[in-house]
Amino acid sequence: MLPVIALVGRPNVGKSTLFNALTRSRDALVADMPGVTRDRHYGVCHLGARPFVVVDTGGLSGSDEGIEGLTAQQVRLAIAEANLLVFVVDARDGVLPLDAAILGELRRSGKPIVVVVNKTDGTDEPTVMAEFASFGVAETIPASAAHSRGVDVLVARAMPHLPEEDEDDAPSEEEQGIRVAIVGRPNAGKSTLINRLLGEDRLIVSDLAGTTRDPIRVSLERDGRRYTLIDTAGVRRKARVEEAVEKFSVIKTLQSISAAQVTVIMIDARENLADQDLTLIGHVIEEGKALVVAVNKWDGMDSYQREQTQKALERRLQFADWAKTVFISALHGSGLRELMKAVIRAHAAATKELGSSELTRTLERAYEAYQPPLVRGHAPKLRFAHPGGSNPPTIVIHGSRTKHIAPAYRRYLEGFFRKRFRLEGTPVRIEFRDGD
Ligand code: GDP
Ligand code: GDP
Repeated sequence: MLPVIALVGRPNVGKSTLFNALTRSRDALVADMPGVTRDRHYGVCHLGARPFVVVDTGGLSGSDEGIEGLTAQQVRLAIAEANLLVFVVDARDGVLPLDAAILGELRRSGKPIVVVVNKTDGTDEPTVMAEFASFGVAETIPASAAHSRGVDVLVARAMPHLPEEDEDDAPSEEEQGIRVAIVGRPNAGKSTLINRLLGEDRLIVSDLAGTTRDPIRVSLERDGRRYTLIDTAGVRRKARVEEAVEKFSVIKTLQSISAAQVTVIMIDARENLADQDLTLIGHVIEEGKALVVAVNKWDGMDSYQREQTQKALERRLQFADWAKTVFISALHGSGLRELMKAVIRAHAAATKELGSSELTRTLERAYEAYQPPLVRGHAPKLRFAHPGGSNPPTIVIHGSRTKHIAPAYRRYLEGFFRKRFRLEGTPVRIEFRDGD
């Protein structure tokens, strides 16, 4: 499972700027938990040898007693979840009493700490660094998040602090079958679906989870096929009190998506599609995972409601129109056959082997039908294509002036390849390489 790094520090030191530099994502996932003063942001960083989850804990504001109240609670939660704490301070402010108080709190956790001295741009760096050396934290890094300076160093220093992946215990690909993450907002029906799938097929429940914090993996055999369901809701742990506190764990959701080949996002048909659903779908696509949209609680809706729901979904999910939408009732078990069929198809598309000559031929046809607009009087040339990996299927296209190819043309090519190779249910990645 993806390790977790938490960014902690006073307001305005540059945590969200650093978060954006690390995750490079357009939309951060936000946990909408009641009772916290500022939302925490979550994303995945792919800059290092291993991806990890980044949590921006929000601001820790000071009071006479130092840190306290809800923000402190929020930070404690982040500390509990994190494998590494990144303490962000402001080079221009120097060491403030509140910094020392926060550091004390972080130290009590016993977790590894890296200090990032941010906003060193325009400062006398050696002087600033000497001041922060008083913290006595061995790993203290100068940075300028706004200019993405120090970010690579931070990532490199973070790596050794992340827990080892124990791949030895992991079941083989074949034993695992298709790895499916089931994600969605609280009460969408994730647990109901998993219980339904498991119960119906008298399955072999084996708990493959390492620690209690990790999402649970359960294996399922259905119609002669193997699956590993990666459950974010925690079927069995649900009864426990602390699960109610944070029933929707963004960290678990991100970890599940990362570990899976196919993500099933569950949506409650009786609720409007929330921004969080769209952000989640956007994240699945960015991570290159195959996607199936399961619209749950389809039972007890009349035909008018169904039609309205279908129309609204179609409109808002246009950006992922290649993903199959299935209408199910986890409670009654209807639509599950279709759901699993969509999962199998999406997996097949995501892992399909594409041949270089077919890809090149398809590229030629796409190029003939419609050429990219001229760039300062010159046409970008696309010469040949070859496969660059699967899950997601990646197509590497060689040519010249490819840097100037507009997003619209990239989408055109993507659609063309998708149609030709029937890559339904999976994102398709196009990479351009300039030959000259
Ligand atoms: P947060 O409250 O800790 O999340 O801080 P923000 O990321 O919102 O940053 C607070 C302010 O500091 C913003 O105006 C940023 O543009 C600015 N800032 C962040 N990083 C840097 C930096 O590296 N250099 C400079 N000069 N300003 C920065
Ligand atoms: P989770 O938080 O995503 O795991 O959601 P649950 O599986 O706990 O379901 C939340 C609530 O929705 C429960 O009361 C379920 O009984 C109910 N529910 C789940 N699936 C369906 C369904 O297909 N139809 C109806 N009517 N209710 C459902």
